[in-house]
Amino acid sequence: MESTTPLLAGIEAGGTKYVCAVAQSPEEPLMETRFPTGPPEETMAQAIAFFREAMEKYGPIRAMGIGTFGPADIDPRSPGYGSILTTPKEGWGGFNLVGALREGLDEPIPIAFDTDVNAAAIGEAEVGAGKHHRNLCYITVGTGIGGGFLNDSSPLHGRMHPEIGHMVMPDLDAEFGKNTNVCPFHASCLEGRASGPAIQARWGAPGSELSEDHPAWDLEAKYLAAGALNLTAAWSPDIILIGGGVLQQYGLIDRVRREFEQLAGGYWSLPPLDLYLQTPALDQRAGIVGALALARRLL
Ligand code: ADP
Ligand code: ZN
Repeated sequence: MESTTPLLAGIEAGGTKYVCAVAQSPEEPLMETRFPTGPPEETMAQAIAFFREAMEKYGPIRAMGIGTFGPADIDPRSPGYGSILTTPKEGWGGFNLVGALREGLDEPIPIAFDTDVNAAAIGEAEVGAGKHHRNLCYITVGTGIGGGFLNDSSPLHGRMHPEIGHMVMPDLDAEFGKNTNVCPFHASCLEGRASGPAIQARWGAPGSELSEDHPAWDLEAKYLAAGALNLTAAWSPDIILIGGGVLQQYGLIDRVRREFEQLAGGYWSLPPLDLYLQTPALDQRAGIVGALALARRLL
């Protein structure tokens, strides 16, 4: 079946799992698969086999979008464009995803390559909680902390790409009689203080096992509010979306809003905080929907 609506391909290239899909419209994949991220050659072969099968069924792919785990070379002018940079993930350091896909797919398909969080930000801005906003920040709080940005609707890159998980944080642990930081690089950064592993290290149990009224959530909210405030001060977004596994904790986003209000000290004129600070609407789908939306932007 070949249709007149161009076929899009998307890859959510995660550090633990890969999601591949084809679609005519990003929110409605026609065909989708997911598999654990293995060694690069094997993982690419699985992705290529999926897209070949999809093309047999639906016709040629017109554009592909990839949202990858990082750090990655996302600068189209760089000779290493399309590759993963230094990573502890065995075999992936220096591996060029875009090159491998171009080689494996024969057809010269235009490919957009960006971070997983920038892709998620695009997904949320086009069909999720960030509709109608041109300056959007998407933060994920899980095993690590990362952030994607749309600046005047375009993904923000910079010299490499932002790594907001490593913004410096004040020590808020002391107030709680704790001193937990899980980042091996920094004495006190957002990821080191507020990621899922930080919560587990500090309180001796994963967040999913801590009750709603556990002090963990006040401290967590203080760190996340500080992060959101720093982004507000430095970069003035229209909306900040905070998601990831840790935000599944009931009531956490409300605590973040309360702490943010305190910390902001009335300085900024912002939308009501239940609109300014929200959880993402696409939830676990943001990455793959965003990768497909990234592809659509190439047409
Ligand atoms: P990843 O970052 O690996 O892609 P997730 O975004 O799902 O994965 O985040 C995983 C983290 O979220 C883990 O550290 C886990 O302990 C934490 N987490 C999962 N569920 C909850 C919950 N209900 N409350 C708080 N933390 C949670
Ligand atoms: Zn750090």
